[in-house]
Amino acid sequence: VPPKQRKPDWIRVKAPTSHGYNETRKLMRSLNLATVCEEAACPNIGECWTKKHATVMILGDTCTRACAFCNVKTGMPRAVDPLEPEHVATAAAELGLEHIVVTSVDRDDLPDGGASQFVKVIEALRRNTPQTTIEILTPDFRNKSEAAVEAIIAAGPDVYNHNLETVPRLYPTIRPGARYYASLRLLESVKRHAPHIFTKSGVMVGLGEERLEVHQVMDDMRSADIDFLTMGQYLQPTPRHAKVEEFVTPDAFKAYAAIARAKGFLLVAASPLTRSSYHAGDDFRKMQEA
Ligand code: SF4
Ligand code: SF4
Repeated sequence: VPPKQRKPDWIRVKAPTSHGYNETRKLMRSLNLATVCEEAACPNIGECWTKKHATVMILGDTCTRACAFCNVKTGMPRAVDPLEPEHVATAAAELGLEHIVVTSVDRDDLPDGGASQFVKVIEALRRNTPQTTIEILTPDFRNKSEAAVEAIIAAGPDVYNHNLETVPRLYPTIRPGARYYASLRLLESVKRHAPHIFTKSGVMVGLGEERLEVHQVMDDMRSADIDFLTMGQYLQPTPRHAKVEEFVTPDAFKAYAAIARAKGFLLVAASPLTRSSYHAGDDFRKMQEA
């Protein structure tokens, strides 16, 4: 096994040992819910779970794809849990979430790609915790995206997020199951059908992309009317995953953020430890109040 790549100082994070962390973990276990915080080995778990911010991953913990950057288990997933929507709503209530981010594995095995489960989760949240704002982070739904998007936006999330993850040149190696323009089109169609829903997307950097390629991705996103952008450093979850080609400095992230703001995004979060759901609720509130 090759040695782990040494991380620069700005990547070091707090160990997950707090009371809040343990409470969050216990709750998720008792409700039989997976989280992307754990499954993706997110470096912010110590901080987020201490504050009882967790990002639920619906449709089980096993993905039908195998992206080169992702720590989520791959294989044949189990049947969809009919209790999951109510359990997500219970988690939101127990954690006291003002804003919840709900994501999922890809379920290319399901006829609707899992879209109906997103709908049920949104409905359960609206019933049980009507004040909680809802952000969903969905798969691309491959060939079923029109129908899936229509069903999900009819359920009325506040924010629709789908990550482009990287620049188009790196798709064949990093995100082989997906198509860059299909992902862009998905977000474009959300905006077209429901202009009041905020759209959001993100990229990881440090995978070997050029700066100008990242600027081009920002332009593509703005052409698709995407409102929010997140950018963070890619970290290699295990030696079997894609290597880190570069640790992008905090200053370089600031430069990216300034360019993104100039291009017209309403919200930009760009720092080494930024993830789709990192401080998502706080940023969203601040934007609404501004
Ligand atoms: Fe979970 Fe998101 Fe926080 Fe990571 S940044 S621990 S995925 S809520
Ligand atoms: Fe991970 Fe999503 Fe790729 Fe599945 S589709 S391997 S959950 S990034």
